[in-house]
Amino acid sequence: MGAPEQTLEGLAVSPGVAIGRAVCLESRDVEVFRLPVGVQELPAELERLDAALAAARGDVDDMRRKAGDDLGAKLAGIFDAHRLLLEDPSFVGKIRERIESEKVNAEWAVHKTTEELATLFAQLENERMRERQQDLLDVSRHLLRSLGTISHHELTEIEGTIIVAHDLTPSDAIRLGRQNVAGLALETGGRTSHTAIIARSLHLPLVTGLAGVRELVTDEDPMIVDGSSGRVLLHPTADSLESYRELKVRLRGEEDRQTALRTLRAETSDGHRVQLLANIDLPEEIDEAVLHSADGVGLYRSEFLYIERSPQLPDEDAHVEIYDRLLEAMHPRPVTVRTFDLGGRKLARDVLHTQEENPVLGLRGIRLTLARPEFFEIQIRALLRSALNGHLRVMLPMISSVEEVRQFKQLVTRAAGHLRSAGVPHKSSLDVGVMIEVPAAALVAAELAKEVSFFSIGTNDLIQYSLAVDRNNEHVSHLYRPLHPGILRMVRSVVEAAREQGVDVSLCGEAAADPRVAPLLIGLGVHRLSVFPGAIPLVKKEIRSHPLPRLQELAARSLRLSTAQEIEDLIDEYLDRPFDGPGGLEAAG
Ligand code: PEP
Ligand code: MG
Repeated sequence: MGAPEQTLEGLAVSPGVAIGRAVCLESRDVEVFRLPVGVQELPAELERLDAALAAARGDVDDMRRKAGDDLGAKLAGIFDAHRLLLEDPSFVGKIRERIESEKVNAEWAVHKTTEELATLFAQLENERMRERQQDLLDVSRHLLRSLGTISHHELTEIEGTIIVAHDLTPSDAIRLGRQNVAGLALETGGRTSHTAIIARSLHLPLVTGLAGVRELVTDEDPMIVDGSSGRVLLHPTADSLESYRELKVRLRGEEDRQTALRTLRAETSDGHRVQLLANIDLPEEIDEAVLHSADGVGLYRSEFLYIERSPQLPDEDAHVEIYDRLLEAMHPRPVTVRTFDLGGRKLARDVLHTQEENPVLGLRGIRLTLARPEFFEIQIRALLRSALNGHLRVMLPMISSVEEVRQFKQLVTRAAGHLRSAGVPHKSSLDVGVMIEVPAAALVAAELAKEVSFFSIGTNDLIQYSLAVDRNNEHVSHLYRPLHPGILRMVRSVVEAAREQGVDVSLCGEAAADPRVAPLLIGLGVHRLSVFPGAIPLVKKEIRSHPLPRLQELAARSLRLSTAQEIEDLIDEYLDRPFDGPGGLEAAG
């Protein structure tokens, strides 16, 4: 008899159902995953290693050639040592052996073999051997990079891989999502962490807050991840498997029905037009945004351009390419590019060289970009160039003061001057807006409104910073309340400041994607919501079910309540009952 079914309860983070077998990630720090490879796939995995070795050897030869004849003896020695290592049976042979004996992916075999040999070298007293350790680490990094560009056939062929891990960075989630894993079960992480956002973007069911799950699961264990309810089933019974398979089919049918909503306008039932824009993190989301007839891009998180290419940095043309692609797909609708919001947990090691004690309050977003103007100019130049090609808006993250906006404008003037001198076609100015995601920005919204043409309220961070609740921490996720009265009042006051000064206001935090919260936001006067593309249909459906006066009434009453729970209950009351005309509910309430 197999192991008994076991149900674990965690946080429902990214909806959908994944049925598959577990792969437990043993390592997070080095960003190399240990993945099992089926016996039939072993020859292909070895071929992948051979291809990567050949590519790495070719690269070393190229580098040596490019360095020219006047190559110093020391440098020539390094290239030669790297070349030898790439053929050395005590390194390469061990990697092959490990792939075959442990039935693991090439990356893991390279990582483990390097680790073993490096420990061995470190123990040797001799200076030359310690130098050899450095060569080994360099070659290993090179090999891992080459493997990264050679496709992961083994995972794309195994459907139903469920990753079980302590935590995943956003870039881990991107990589795994692109390798077709079916779902994720993590010990840590909150609902609005960037890993959660990526999981939703890639339609990867995700449950977090599963303390101790790694001790309960071993590789290949059958399991189910239900990202909608937050439930994870280990060793599911035949009955559970059957009912979850049926649920998957039903959910697919539901998705098809939702797609049919694309032809309907986003408006309240009494015809007030609302804009539903798309949040885009990865290029693969563009088609989905178009499919659901998004009214434009309300937030392009440009930092993912850096995260995806790390350790390489995107050059100016890489920026232009993606901005133009977004503008073309959305034409003539607006595309809002947020300047890169690195730092916090979204670390690109090559940009941020320092380790910070408290990175979420550190050199993040606009602070990092203003601190590294020479580096930021690459993005600003690209924005000025792309602004010629459509309705481009530029948004600044983590703004906490008016001075930051003014400094940014100076950088724009400088970058435009450089482009002019170089004769590069560009627009002379940018349509600039700010994220309102730091409480101080909400408080000086009236002053900020004089400097910019639009606001986008970022509730993900606004909640984190206002309620002092880490958005990544599952232990305090019960305190992370988008409907906290303080948050609603802040949203309302930003809307009022924007209205008085005549600037546009939208909301692009995850709260907008919740069909129970979006109607209330509209009632509060936020008539532009930016959500991940997959959320557009459900939010649209909910909005179309209610007349604006009812939502305004819901908002007015919510603003008078004292707790998030009372507001949630009021929403249930309003959204679940048909509207019986203005006043009817006042009487009922
Ligand atoms: C936010 O903070 O609400 C937001 C949209 O930005 P991010 O989630 O990228 O921090
Ligand atoms: Mg933010």
